[in-house]
Amino acid sequence: MASGFGKIVVGTYVEIKRSDGRIHQAMVTSLNEDNESVTVEWIENGDTKGKEIDLESIFALNPDVAPDEEIAPSPETPPPPTPTCVKVNKIAKNRRTIAPPKNDTPSRDNRGLRNCNIILTYLWWFNSRRKSNCVKEVEKLQEKRERRRLQQQELREKRAQEVDTTIPNYEIMYMIRDFRASLDYRPLTTADLIEEHRICVCVRKRPLNKKELSVKDLDVITIPSKDVVMVHEPKQKVDLTRYLENQTFRFDYAFDDSTTNEMVYRFTARPLVETIFERGMATCFAYGQTGSGKTHTMGGDFSGKNQDCSKGIYALAARDVFLMLKKPSYKKLDLQVYATFFEIYSGKVFDLLNRKAKLRVLEDGKQQVQVVGLQEKEVKCTEDVLKLIEVGNSCRTSGQTSANAHSSRSHAVFQIILRRKGKMHGKFSLIDLAGNERGADTSSADRQTRLEGAEINKSLLALKECIRALGRNKPHTPFRASKLTQVLRDSFIGENSRTCMIATISPGMTSCENTLNTLRYANRVKELTVDPNQVMEGGRPNIHAVNQLDLLDEEWLSISPQRDDLKLLCEQNEEEVSPQLFTFHEAVSQLVEMEEQVLEDHRAVFQESIRWLEDEKVLLEMTEEVDYDVESYATQLEQILDQKIEILTELRDKVKSFRSALQEEEQASKQINPKRPRAL
Ligand code: ADP
Ligand code: MG
Repeated sequence: MASGFGKIVVGTYVEIKRSDGRIHQAMVTSLNEDNESVTVEWIENGDTKGKEIDLESIFALNPDVAPDEEIAPSPETPPPPTPTCVKVNKIAKNRRTIAPPKNDTPSRDNRGLRNCNIILTYLWWFNSRRKSNCVKEVEKLQEKRERRRLQQQELREKRAQEVDTTIPNYEIMYMIRDFRASLDYRPLTTADLIEEHRICVCVRKRPLNKKELSVKDLDVITIPSKDVVMVHEPKQKVDLTRYLENQTFRFDYAFDDSTTNEMVYRFTARPLVETIFERGMATCFAYGQTGSGKTHTMGGDFSGKNQDCSKGIYALAARDVFLMLKKPSYKKLDLQVYATFFEIYSGKVFDLLNRKAKLRVLEDGKQQVQVVGLQEKEVKCTEDVLKLIEVGNSCRTSGQTSANAHSSRSHAVFQIILRRKGKMHGKFSLIDLAGNERGADTSSADRQTRLEGAEINKSLLALKECIRALGRNKPHTPFRASKLTQVLRDSFIGENSRTCMIATISPGMTSCENTLNTLRYANRVKELTVDPNQVMEGGRPNIHAVNQLDLLDEEWLSISPQRDDLKLLCEQNEEEVSPQLFTFHEAVSQLVEMEEQVLEDHRAVFQESIRWLEDEKVLLEMTEEVDYDVESYATQLEQILDQKIEILTELRDKVKSFRSALQEEEQASKQINPKRPRAL
């Protein structure tokens, strides 16, 4: 049996690793059986230094001196030498770097004797020197180090030739590759448990697309397990060396780039189908940067020219609604299924099932929010739903240069409504949100873009607060701060409401900042979620009491509910909403309210003008009669003119203030710190 010291003997030169990471040669000066270590010595700055190192570390760095009993001898391996021979050979081998004693080239005749002499001389030389502070050894060590440095440089050069250096950031690519190699992958499978969540937040990574591949963008996202997402963010030190900052996030589920829509659906929206049969309200949001896969997830695969909407979550949910309807327990309820499809753009609602008709959102005395005139189409089967989705989609994108040009700025809401004898039984709202990066457009030079950005910024903040309030059964939520949350209000209240958010992310390094913003937002939504059982500690809050509280608030809020909700929203998001941004949001809200007023008044004045025309016509006709009443004519004309002046002055004043509101908005937009807000 080979000794535990393998091929190490006193005098063997081995590589050692220092605590600062340097690797250099040192000589073994003793073998310590008791603790399976060796003592090594080396020369540094003219001093002999020593250290005890365990055998395992020595063998790890010097595999050639490790015991080789487990390695099957290869056919080329020479038969093992006798122990003495090993010893001598080893010394000779490992002392390669030490200058051999001066010796002449051996002649053929006396080679054996000479060899023996060499070995003996070696031993003598070695013994006489091993503990000395030999200058030659220093030189040799330096020589060796230099050689190793050259070898490493060669290796690097060789590697550089092997790697595709045309890839921008190839060093980063290697770092990510090495990092991934160290991970243990356990992705989500169909065997994983589908958990019941009142609020479910998950992340979906899409594959690199053609465009990203063509510019050789790097995939900086790793999903090692069913609920973890890692972002490898390239960073640079002051000395310009690059390194990776790996950030880890945990969600309810994490879907990697090989996950199908069906699989995403299985863990996200599918568990919510039952909710609406149980008289509940369900919402499912796709949130993320434009191009990260929201529409692909919700609407279906857009690859190729036509969208296969049968593979989107809208259609998959509809399919399961019709399946559930056949279950005996639900069949007896005699439920009807309806669908709506609308878009919210810059705080305005457009019906996608009715040629984009602009709709008004009204709130009645009972706080019931109504989208006036929204088309609710009855659907009998999945096919019917698919047709509606197609109609809505083509209406949504018609006249657009690209599907994403418009969708990045608007929220699309698809709803499946269950009714029993006309009365609402349950509602499932599936929302393809506007691109979150557009929330940062508030400082754009173009007003339209700014207003769109403000609405997106506000609605995504409000959405976060509404979901957070849902998890905490909070009595008041700033749902009026945006049209999106206002129209979805009924889905955020009530005990039987459930929601799911799918944060979609692009894998590319170029999207890294937006991806991190998306993950932070999603994380805040879930982080703020409290287990309902925990919240309920000390008894469930009385739902009626909650409603009463709402009513009390209502009176106070009636002065300007939108403004107050906005204030609340900004207070809740102090970190993201600077005071300047709040002022800007206020200016925008005012602007939007005024615009509505001016338009409404203008319409009224227009109608009134028609009446004036008719009245004036009658009046003028009267003057054509021979004996008309001049007195009466003058009085009536004066009345008409007074009325006209009053109404027109009023409208003119409103237009004036509207114009100054426009200027205020422009001023306020210039005050926003360009760094804020981040994309939401
Ligand atoms: P968004 O709606 O977020 O702006 P899209 O859904 O339109 O993004 O996706 C952008 C592009 O990426 C589309 O061409 C889409 O087909 C593709 N894509 C998105 N998600 C995936 C995915 N999971 N697998 C394959 N392709 C995807
Ligand atoms: Mg989209």
